[in-house]
Amino acid sequence: MSFLTIDRVTKVYPTPNGPTTILDGIDLTVNEGEFICLIGHSGCGKSTLLNMVSGFNTPTSGTVTLNGNPIIEPGPDRMMVFQNYCLLPWLTAYDNVYLAVESVYPTYTEAQKQAIVREHLEMVGLTESATKKPGQLSGGMKQRVAIARALAIKPQVLILDEPFGALDAITKEELQDELLTIWTQHKLTVLMITHDIDEALYLADRLVMMTNGPAATIGEVLEIPFDRPRDREKIMASSTYMELRNYALDFLFNRYAHLDD
Ligand code: ADP
Repeated sequence: MSFLTIDRVTKVYPTPNGPTTILDGIDLTVNEGEFICLIGHSGCGKSTLLNMVSGFNTPTSGTVTLNGNPIIEPGPDRMMVFQNYCLLPWLTAYDNVYLAVESVYPTYTEAQKQAIVREHLEMVGLTESATKKPGQLSGGMKQRVAIARALAIKPQVLILDEPFGALDAITKEELQDELLTIWTQHKLTVLMITHDIDEALYLADRLVMMTNGPAATIGEVLEIPFDRPRDREKIMASSTYMELRNYALDFLFNRYAHLDD
């Protein structure tokens, strides 16, 4: 049985001009433990698609199944991380993670809940900043809290919607490396939207490239063949990297060029 299956999914939204097909016939099978990146121009429907995996949105037709069960609502087996962190500003880093643990595992003892929170803040290097509130944290630190919060719930699938889009280049590379370490250690399945082809080539097992909307679909799926653990400088210097990069750029900016971007 496949792990995650997106089968003939379409999404139609009502608009003032009548129903508009946003996604049309999306088919994708994701293996357990895979790292998938999703790329495509703004508005093509990437968030809509991943929201159907998280369960916050539902297909107009077709199905999304996890371990054979149709996804019809959000659940702690699928956690999301967003570009704008979505932390509660009045709570400390610790309490932001604690609140999530408390809501999903209310029957755990206080000691168990605290241990989970501490373990996950430590995993993202935030033990020292646990008592700080989001306003006192840098963008990278806020995103670390959001990742710790998502992982503290022990999801099977981690869904990231442009998680590093607002970060400077150095912080972004640090977080990419941390994400790879966490993904390896936790044997997670990751679905991640990005606009950054280099990021996708460094992180992903497969790069899903979407055509333009309306009625967007999956244009092509690129296999990223680099061995793991990956050495960023080494792969970026390889001819395969340049070929894949050029191929993806050609897909986005020639074959599916978008005038608004
Ligand atoms: P992406 O993540 O690729 O930028 P989205 O999934 O956010 O794209 O949006 C895809 C398209 O669907 C956009 O044109 C957007 O305006 C439209 N859309 C998203 N949500 C709704 C909604 N609730 N009602 C109507 N149109 C929507």
